[in-house]
Amino acid sequence: MTVLFVILALLLAFIVITLVRAAFYKEKKTGYEPLEKENTDTERFLKNLSDAIKFKTISNYDSSLVDWAEFEKFHAFLRERYPLVHKTMSITEIGEASLIYKWEGSDPSLDAIAMLAHQDVVPVDSQTEKDWENPPFEGVNDGEFIWGRGAMDMKNHLIAVMESAEALIAEGYKPVRTVYICLGHNEEVVASPDNGAKAMAQYLEKQGVKLEAVLDEGGAILPAEIKGVVSCNLAGVGIAEKGSVNYRISVSAKGGHSSQPPKHTALGHLANVIRDIENHQFKAVMPDFVYDLFTAIGKRSSYPARLVFCNLWLLKPLVLKVMTKIPPAASLIRTCTAVTMAQGSPQFNVLPQKASATVNFRTMPGVTMSDVEEHIRKSVKNKNIEIEFLVGKEASKVSPTDSRAFKTIKELCERADSKNLVAPFLVMGGTDSYNYENICGNIYRFSPFRVSTGLLLCTHAVNERLPVESVPQALEFFKRYIRIMSSK
Ligand SMILES: [Zn+2]
Repeated sequence: MTVLFVILALLLAFIVITLVRAAFYKEKKTGYEPLEKENTDTERFLKNLSDAIKFKTISNYDSSLVDWAEFEKFHAFLRERYPLVHKTMSITEIGEASLIYKWEGSDPSLDAIAMLAHQDVVPVDSQTEKDWENPPFEGVNDGEFIWGRGAMDMKNHLIAVMESAEALIAEGYKPVRTVYICLGHNEEVVASPDNGAKAMAQYLEKQGVKLEAVLDEGGAILPAEIKGVVSCNLAGVGIAEKGSVNYRISVSAKGGHSSQPPKHTALGHLANVIRDIENHQFKAVMPDFVYDLFTAIGKRSSYPARLVFCNLWLLKPLVLKVMTKIPPAASLIRTCTAVTMAQGSPQFNVLPQKASATVNFRTMPGVTMSDVEEHIRKSVKNKNIEIEFLVGKEASKVSPTDSRAFKTIKELCERADSKNLVAPFLVMGGTDSYNYENICGNIYRFSPFRVSTGLLLCTHAVNERLPVESVPQALEFFKRYIRIMSSK
């Protein structure tokens, strides 16, 4: 009886502690003052973005299929629209059409900063062209949106960086730290043999350049409205990106005619292999940045949600379990497994001599491609499988959240709008910035445009468009960021 009483008392104490923790779990007041006014020219940006979209700078894995004249015209357009940038900075063309602008700082002993963007866009599927409300390469501005390929990915970001540099020069600003603007030409081509970003990073490395910070695409500012739980603009700053690796797994068997089959053909054995792989998912973990992300959201949440977020130390296993059941959430906490392609015999009456399946793994930072191969071997009971590496890219390193660059991004966003909440996150796809790891430890993937999730989904799809109302804050952000980061 006494034991039961003690247990009940402990339980009660525990409940009280978690509830109290949640009640007092609030964001620290930052004491931020509102930002000083920044002069920007939204109309000019809109006109220049509209015109930038008109160049069909479409990249292709096969560089002989690229219309290089479009890139040349785009470069001429940049020269014409940004005369001060072109007068003040030195420009080096790298590879087929990548551009490095160097804005020399007054103190060469300090590490430089780099602003990244890619000039290329993905093609428009001819089947879907009729579904566009406005043509994809005209840059229509209907007052509410700028329409077209690249409006979101990422001529918006590129033009905003150029506008900011032009405006700062016009105001007579002179950087202390050198500023590089690196414009790639084939970010959209995965595993391109002529990778513009890689060539630019190697060029800088050869010059002995070290970068204090790199800012590239990746995150955005997303309104997060869940009634009664949270109401904020979540500014996700990508501090790492997942890797991707493809393995082909094959099982061999005797071939022959299908009229005299064994109980299991090679394809039948392969089915067991696939089942083993799918049933042995990678372990879910909560990296520090996911913990930080939840903590940041928790501090802005209303009471019941805060109860969970502020007791993560206790509820972590439960939260992880729930997250693994929701694919988009699961992708944040574990290396994902997707069996995507399979092959048996080429004829319906021929037994396959070999059956194979291709599996795409999206790796977490810290999980290497060879870890994946080992995981496959461990998970599959059939030891007579053949594992073939096809193509892959390691996950990136994780950039810190206590660097000057991260703190600057956070402060600029949160001071610009008290609803903005900056949190680190993991980028699912790849970006050009990945190539800069040798010369920079502080790589951030963030585009300061406030857009809805629905609009983000138009990227690479039909009706890609940028909301005009997101422009002023983004322009102010870039101008302030470049000034702060390069002035000391
Ligand atoms: Zn992009």
